[in-house]
This record gives sequence, structure tokens and C-alpha cells, in this order.
Amino acid sequence: MAKKGKYTFIDLSLSIENSAMEGWPPKITRWDHREGARTHGKGIGINPDEFPDGMCQAWEEITLITHAGTHVDAPWHFFPTSEGKPSKTIDVCPLEWFYGPGVVLDLTHRKAGELITDEDIKKALEKINYRISPGDIVLIMTGADKFAYDVNYTNSHPGIGREATLYLVDQGVKLIGTDGYGYDKPFKVMGEEYKKGIKNALWPGHYAGREREYCHIESMANLDKIPVPFGFTVCAFPILIDKASAGWCRAVAIIEEE
Ligand SMILES: [Zn+2]
Repeated sequence: MAKKGKYTFIDLSLSIENSAMEGWPPKITRWDHREGARTHGKGIGINPDEFPDGMCQAWEEITLITHAGTHVDAPWHFFPTSEGKPSKTIDVCPLEWFYGPGVVLDLTHRKAGELITDEDIKKALEKINYRISPGDIVLIMTGADKFAYDVNYTNSHPGIGREATLYLVDQGVKLIGTDGYGYDKPFKVMGEEYKKGIKNALWPGHYAGREREYCHIESMANLDKIPVPFGFTVCAFPILIDKASAGWCRAVAIIEEE
């Protein structure tokens, strides 16, 4: 949490790191300042010792999927089409979708592997006495971010269902966030349910994006640190990646003092 004048900033992001317990963890290779002096020195024909204290710039090289860490999924991720038109990739999603009034819905009573329904969303809204407005950014708090460094992180969240998703998107919501690893139930759970004969068990939340155009943020954190359920601003601009299905984002809640 940081403060500047009348604004308080709450970081809602997980960091990109080698120790991330993700399905496809990132790989960060680091060049320290001495390595920087060696590499830069070699490039311009100068001995590394000639740099101040033998040091020059540090940098990193990262290999990661677009769905690593806290990131925004674009409609293209869900299906080639959305609402009958070609789906938007992350680079063409309008910036205004990623900045707006935030509302946190407490769904922490839904356990890992369970489904969050439209009824759950309605009840959570009633509890805080809030009515959705178009452009609102709805953050679903499951508490699963507390397991971000647990080996079982990818299995620790409930899934957001098709009906819950459509209920919000039909009211003009373009961005829904979750602090679970994924927007839908854990992969393992969906696979088991499908094999048991539940035909719509596979990624029902993601597939809702075929019917209505929207984005979601996965792997958020610290939704419990936002001191109010609404009356704050969310900023979660995705990194501009050409024709990509997702973009990493630094999701932040901004609270303005009255
Ligand atoms: Zn994703």
C-alpha cells in the first residue's frame, strides 16, 4: 500500500517470478552489474575494470507465456469469434475497459473447485447494497491468492460460471477480475466433471466470451486489502502485445480520500 496526497494505491498483482507456482512458470535470467560491465565492455571494446567499480547496467531476460502472473485475457483467448464477430486480441481491446470504478464481491465462502453462479453474484451485490453500472470493473474475491506460493495454488480456487459471467457482462461490465489462478475451475476438476458426463464442464466462464465480448483478469492478489467494497478506481492496463490472447498487467486499486 502506498499513499500520495489524497490517493492510496493498493497493488492487486502477483509478481512475475521464477518461484511462481503456475502451470507454466516464468523463467527469469538475470545479468548483474558486473556481468553488465563485461557484456557492454565487450560490445564496445572496453575492459570491464574501466567502468565505475567494474559495474555497468543490470538487466533480465524473461521467458514466459502471456498468461503468467496477473494478466488480462482477451476475447481472442476464449474463441476465434465473440458475438458473431472476430474476437479482439489484447492489442485492440479499448483502454477504457481497463480503468474504471471497482467493486469487490466477497465469494470467499465458495471453496476450491466449486462454481460461482449468477445467484452468488446477486447475493454478494445485495450484501453490499450495490447496483452494477456499465463500465464497472468487478473483482471476485475468492481468497485463493493466499495460496500463490503453495504447490497446490492452481487447484485452490472456485470457478466463475457462464451464468455469473453473462449476468455481469449483460449489465455493461467489460472487465471481471479474480484472485484465483484461473477464471474457471481448476483444470483437473473440469476434466473430472466432463468425464463424469457433465457436458458443459469445460471452461464455461471462458466460453461465455463467445456469446458476449468481455475480458477478465486472472491471478490477482490482495483484494482483501481494499478497505471498501466500492467507491474506488481500478487500473489494470495490459501490456501491448501484437495479436496476443492476453497481456500481463499491474492491477492497482486507487482510493481517493473524500
Ligand atoms: Zn489467462
